[in-house]
Amino acid sequence: MLSYRHGFHAGNSADVLKHLILCAVISYIRKKDKPFTIIDTHAGGGIYRLDDGMAEKTGEAKDGIVKLMQHPGKLPEIVPEYFSIIRDLNPEGKIAVYPGSPYIEQQLLRDSDKGIFIELHPTEFDALRLNFGRDRRISLHRRDSFEGLDAIVPPPVRRGAVLMDPAYEVDTDYAKSVSSIGEAFRKCPTMTMMLWYPVLSKSRDRSQKILSEARRLAIPDTWRAEIRTSEQEEDFGMCGSGMIIFNCPFSVDRKIGEILSCLEVSIGMGRNSSVLTRLSEKGC
Ligand code: SAM
Repeated sequence: MLSYRHGFHAGNSADVLKHLILCAVISYIRKKDKPFTIIDTHAGGGIYRLDDGMAEKTGEAKDGIVKLMQHPGKLPEIVPEYFSIIRDLNPEGKIAVYPGSPYIEQQLLRDSDKGIFIELHPTEFDALRLNFGRDRRISLHRRDSFEGLDAIVPPPVRRGAVLMDPAYEVDTDYAKSVSSIGEAFRKCPTMTMMLWYPVLSKSRDRSQKILSEARRLAIPDTWRAEIRTSEQEEDFGMCGSGMIIFNCPFSVDRKIGEILSCLEVSIGMGRNSSVLTRLSEKGC
């Protein structure tokens, strides 16, 4: 079942959280003058217009990137990479274009770095090919993400990160995501792995389950960063989202704390609407 299209959700609050943390992790990795690999297991099309039919239909970006740009606080100092990408795409100020994770990753690759993007949906994959097919640093895979990650890891350059951002259209995505991260980390313990998850209405929410499964992997330096953007209803909607960062690089956890504090007052529900907790100990 591949009915999810990220164009409907591009630039929403979940994208903002995920992409700020993605930038923070890559910017840390880039500090060393050594090549790295970034693997994006659920890439989507890579870049989105917010003024076309899809994004306008849901208007989700209004509560995400549009709101953030109105009250960015100190975030442009904390994660300058994210804001320069947004500003370069929208030179006139109005946010009409939003970068998907592959676009952000591409902008942060240096000549010696590699991007590996996986996507199964035929239309999204066509967009991915159009947007990134000519970049020799990037390889594109039209295949299942979980099978693909298992086949690709370890990549020739083992330094770097994995972003796993499933659509959770099928319930099995929860368990599969965590186990596939566990297996990938076992084969390549030098990489940082990031897993995005939604916080849904009370009757549908699986966030506690995914967190306890993530904890069970016992990967060193695993952190959970979560933000609530609305009240949790009984049966409907998404009220927040989170990222689990496995093998989080030194000092990036502190930066993520700063990101969350800023997001609480821009796109969140105010003070104390975020949590940053450690799911495993250092070197456990
Ligand atoms: N990571 C993207 C970003 O931040 O811009 C958004 C990705 S979107 C949430 C999830 C994507 O995963 C969709 O484009 C969907 O087609 C794709 N997808 C869903 N199941 C998949 C699978 N089993 N294998 C590969 N791609 C899959």
